[in-house]
Amino acid sequence: MSRRVLILGAGFGGLELSTMLSDAFGGDLEVTLIDKSDAFVFGFSKLDVMFGRTTPDAVRLHYRDIAKPGVQFLQETIAAIDPETRQVTTDAGVHEADVLVVALGADYDFDATPGLADGGNEFYTESGAERLAEIVPTFSEGRVVVGVCGAPYKCPPAPSECALLLDDALSERGVRDSCEISFVLPLGRPVPPSPETSAALEAEFGKRDITFIPGRRIRSVDPARSVAALDDDTELPFELFLGVPRHRAPDVVIASGMTEDGYVPVDSATLRTRYPGVYAVGDVATAGVPKAGVFAEGAARVVARQLISELRDSERPGPYDGRGSCYVEFGGGRVGRVDIDFLSGPTKTGSFNAPSAALVAEKEHFGSSRRARWFGT
Ligand SMILES: Cc1cc2nc3c(=O)[nH]c(=O)nc-3n(C[C@H](O)[C@H](O)[C@H](O)COP(=O)(O)OP(=O)(O)OC[C@H]3O[C@@H](n4cnc5c(N)ncnc54)[C@H](O)[C@@H]3O)c2cc1C
Repeated sequence: MSRRVLILGAGFGGLELSTMLSDAFGGDLEVTLIDKSDAFVFGFSKLDVMFGRTTPDAVRLHYRDIAKPGVQFLQETIAAIDPETRQVTTDAGVHEADVLVVALGADYDFDATPGLADGGNEFYTESGAERLAEIVPTFSEGRVVVGVCGAPYKCPPAPSECALLLDDALSERGVRDSCEISFVLPLGRPVPPSPETSAALEAEFGKRDITFIPGRRIRSVDPARSVAALDDDTELPFELFLGVPRHRAPDVVIASGMTEDGYVPVDSATLRTRYPGVYAVGDVATAGVPKAGVFAEGAARVVARQLISELRDSERPGPYDGRGSCYVEFGGGRVGRVDIDFLSGPTKTGSFNAPSAALVAEKEHFGSSRRARWFGT
């Protein structure tokens, strides 16, 4: 078997794909996995770090621990992708591939929201979450705006979770009464495909006196006046701004010419791009599913099954079903779950599982099982 599979990005998508290919072929297939970082961090760990439930070091899963037969991990920064020739240039050299899989995730476009970089904090990067872990425990009085600067963004429930966990943190310190929390979301409801999940979150906002402003996005932040401007020109003054930056594909993907409207279009059944031998999975692609780790992982599995069936000349697998379950933190240590199905039926659906102790354990298992499967730790 002489095919070389080159996977760009070792996030949810890249890790799952390389693991499945190693499980199937061991050392008989040449799989190269490239990432600029030295470690993977689950998205939800950023909220854990921000609210002091863990430390930044404890949530870093080091790529040096990957020991998968047939998989070589390279810590390199991708500088150029040629999808026609499947040639990739990094800061360390040039890689050629028979099969190229782009799994580079979504990046943040701070410049798209004037003032955000100077006047606001964000909790979507490791460094942003670490900075907030210092700030949140000292904040005792004033107005907080949790604001999303544009859709689509990763993990639709995460900003709602941030607002609820912030309410917890301020209440535990006995300063909640001297603080106000507003939550600005470009979506009409917190989790649009699941009215029940949305209703449960909205009820929680109501109980906790969190002002929910749906259908609006943060247009700009004025650091001098400490004011956030919404897209309808409303102004919200703040003492603390917690933002979700606008997202788009990484610059190197945009420069490759593969994107349309900021992301890589794919056939949602197969995750194939318009370039032969080139796939795109996860947040970097437009596959008709939300931007979340579980969907990146599900898409990667579909690509893995196709490659396995091609290489073994066996029965072709079924199409990507766009199904995934997301855990939702409701505050007070409670965890619910929403089961999303975006592609298998005639309409998008999302069913709600109310918070329970079993779901707290299930979320823990979600993380630990992937740590074991991808990193052997
Ligand atoms: C606060 C928060 C909470 C979240 N909670 C959840 C949750 O509970 N459940 C869930 O399913 N999802 C959650 N998510 C979303 C989830 O983290 C992402 O959707 C998921 O990581 C996407 O996987 P991916 O493989 O597409 O990309 P990523 O996991 O983002 O991986 C992309 C990789 O590409 C690498 N890369 C990018 N550019 C380059 C380059 N030029 N050279 C080399 N490497 C590069 C990056 O370093 C990165 O490792 C959350 C996200 C956030 C921010």
